[in-house]
Amino acid sequence: MTTKAYAAQSAKTPLTPHGITRRDPLPTDVQIEILYCGVCHSDLHQARDEWHDFAPTAYPCVPGHEIVGRVTKVGKDVKKFKAGDLAAVGCMVDSCRTCPSCAKGLEQYCTHFPTFTYNAPDKHSGGVTYGGYSDAIVVDEAFVLRVSEEANLAATAPLLCAGITTYSPLRHWKVGPGQKIGIVGLGGLGHMGVKFARAFGAHVVLFTTSPSKVEDGKRLGAHEVVVSKDAAAMKAHAGSFDFVLDAVSAEHDINAYLSLLKLDGTLCLVGAPEKPLPVAAFNLLLPRRSFAGSGIGGIAETQEMLDFCAERGIGSDVEVIPIQKINEAYDRLLKGDVKYRFVIDMASLKG
Ligand code: NAP
Ligand code: ZN
Ligand code: ZN
Repeated sequence: MTTKAYAAQSAKTPLTPHGITRRDPLPTDVQIEILYCGVCHSDLHQARDEWHDFAPTAYPCVPGHEIVGRVTKVGKDVKKFKAGDLAAVGCMVDSCRTCPSCAKGLEQYCTHFPTFTYNAPDKHSGGVTYGGYSDAIVVDEAFVLRVSEEANLAATAPLLCAGITTYSPLRHWKVGPGQKIGIVGLGGLGHMGVKFARAFGAHVVLFTTSPSKVEDGKRLGAHEVVVSKDAAAMKAHAGSFDFVLDAVSAEHDINAYLSLLKLDGTLCLVGAPEKPLPVAAFNLLLPRRSFAGSGIGGIAETQEMLDFCAERGIGSDVEVIPIQKINEAYDRLLKGDVKYRFVIDMASLKG
């Protein structure tokens, strides 16, 4: 099947219309008409080859891993879905399914590496995978998520990456009542981190570089908002946090956030800046702090998160755009000018 898409043809050129081929559904495959796709900062990093040493970009690159749509066709052995159902796809479309991580439902940590939704070797085509900036996708049902018919679909799309990437570490580190939690950076991930930490019952402090986001931070659920350029305000919180989630996309001083942790506190990085972040040794040693990281979430936990959001009425705050505005959206992402996730209305790709 030929599918319309938008692709980056090189690290330095804007995304432009591009045709791709999707396989016909195999027995366990689900074919989905994509209705909405969120715009993650990872799409921009990958399209511009900013992660070259870790995952060099193969061009043409079709980004997009926050996908919500309707099932149009299923393979003969598919059990969970039928044509007409809502469905979602996140950052992975496959994994080895047998290694110890996969056996635990942690497919994102597959020892053979998961097949990411875009820019990964495609086991079926022999080429690379193509993501959600397109009008259809074909995915094995084991990696397709269920979506409630009552859900706001545009607000649901970002949950597939920004949602699970913040939900998973907050659950893993058992964030809850009685704890003081910091969220760093109010972008796509950060605003979901604020919503989840609040929903889990913690005392939530948002750290932002943008004074213009203070009121929004509170509206989204933060009890307190600190503008991180204010040295006195930062000092007032030193040594007082149980857990801090850092969702910043660019180079920044990680030591400023390590200093916020109390004894045995953890700073978990989910942001993936292009350059390494230097850590001052004594900031870790005293008082026994941990510096950790976390990547997206497994399929079962992603479904748990989607169900939790449907029950609680939690969604992303979105600005819906036509795909023709994708390059402008990337420029605005770099300026921190997004409230708080761009989502592409894929109807704009038709016609
Ligand atoms: P985003 O919407 O662009 O948000 C990033 C936020 O970081 C900005 O809104 C801004 O918040 C802050 N920021 C930007 N530049 C900064 C700078 N120079 N110094 C300090 N703060 C700065 O990006 P996103 O989509 O949420 O993604 C965030 C990062 O997470 C990206 O690197 C992305 O690749 C990564 N990511 C990782 C995973 C994972 O599995 N771990 C999954 C998805 C994304 P303020 O204006 O509030 O300061
Ligand atoms: Zn993402
Ligand atoms: Zn595996």
